[in-house]
Amino acid sequence: MTHNVIIIGAGISGLSAALAILQRGSHVTLLDRGATGGESSWAGGGILSPLLPWDYAGPVSALALRSMAGYADWVADIEAISRQNAEFWRCGMLALDVAEPDQAQAWCATHGMAAYIDCRRTLNLAPDTRKQNCIWLPEVAQVRNPRLVAALRAAVLSLGGVIHEHCPATGVLTQSGRVTAVQTATDTFPADSVVLATGAWSGMGLAELGAMPQIRPIRGQMLLFKLEPGVLDTILYHNGLYLIPRRDGHILAGSTLEDAGFDKSTDAATLRRLHSDAAELLPILAGMQPVQHWAGLRPGSPGNIPVIDRHPDFDNVFVNAGHYRYGVTMAPAAAELLLDLMEGRTPTLDPAPYRWQAALERAWSGCF
Ligand SMILES: Cc1cc2nc3c(=O)[nH]c(=O)nc-3n(C[C@H](O)[C@H](O)[C@H](O)COP(=O)(O)OP(=O)(O)OC[C@H]3O[C@@H](n4cnc5c(N)ncnc54)[C@H](O)[C@@H]3O)c2cc1C
Repeated sequence: MTHNVIIIGAGISGLSAALAILQRGSHVTLLDRGATGGESSWAGGGILSPLLPWDYAGPVSALALRSMAGYADWVADIEAISRQNAEFWRCGMLALDVAEPDQAQAWCATHGMAAYIDCRRTLNLAPDTRKQNCIWLPEVAQVRNPRLVAALRAAVLSLGGVIHEHCPATGVLTQSGRVTAVQTATDTFPADSVVLATGAWSGMGLAELGAMPQIRPIRGQMLLFKLEPGVLDTILYHNGLYLIPRRDGHILAGSTLEDAGFDKSTDAATLRRLHSDAAELLPILAGMQPVQHWAGLRPGSPGNIPVIDRHPDFDNVFVNAGHYRYGVTMAPAAAELLLDLMEGRTPTLDPAPYRWQAALERAWSGCF
């Protein structure tokens, strides 16, 4: 293991890598062009599962399921180090109007995920909300992602990591197929190893390192409502829309999948549509105004399969990017795979689907 690691990007992908590397005894410096975790990792919903897990390719399930199995312990470790609460909550997820519920349930059984075809839980909801073909996934959990990011930041700092915010990496110095330092506008940071965790910006690359294959921003708009605690006690999913309750009564409604470049603006038509879809699921929302409306840029990748690999041209550069809709979910297992590769161990997960070359060979189809 090298001893001076520079991580470019302090979202959840960079922070989770930093934590794992620090716990191995190396020095870590994170550079972020903005605030720690201020991009997609802040903007997301914090559901710790693919939305309809049976709809995704094997490499998505492999990373997600490995993370999900250990997430509670991972968060507990972060909370113990940081003394901050990330609000992990195994609140379950109820998916409504599932196309092939028997097949979905069979997939869950094969993959060790509890799943019940059961619409009784919708009886607490208004009559219009009662749906057919419901699948109840009681083990699905959530974190309050802004709080997880804050806890991760505190844990990284308390383990001796250094974070430079508002400090974009602008280039690297190279020698004989290795990067020797990362440059910013004002400083040069010597590096034994570099990790690129630049989220939606990964497709732009840094001059000498080139762009990471196929990664591009996919905008998601979210609404936030504030109710009394306890109105909703599980994640609801229906036809692309989800509602996520927080313990303090906040409810998030999301999200859109928009190919709009690096534009993070929101629009009134989307607000109206999200609000009306959310109210169809939970009618009490019809009479309420959202307390916040925002957009974030997911690091989109074909098939939702991230790149976790050594850089093809630079031996001491590694990539952890492109987790698209599930970067919060995948964070622990992605960091574990990254560490296995950095330390030259045989990974627990098959690394082949996450290789740079494999990403080059995948094609985009729409936003998915
Ligand atoms: C609306 C929405 C809902 C979501 N819901 C969920 C969900 O419920 N569950 C789930 O698992 N996932 C969800 N996601 C996806 C998840 O948020 C992302 O996959 C994850 O946050 C990606 O983390 P990241 O660290 O790779 O990227 P980011 O959090 O975007 O971090 C990348 C960082 O790199 C920095 N950076 C880029 N270039 C440079 C540079 N040159 N120099 C320095 N810094 C640089 C950026 O400033 C940024 O802070 C959602 C995302 C959105 C937008």
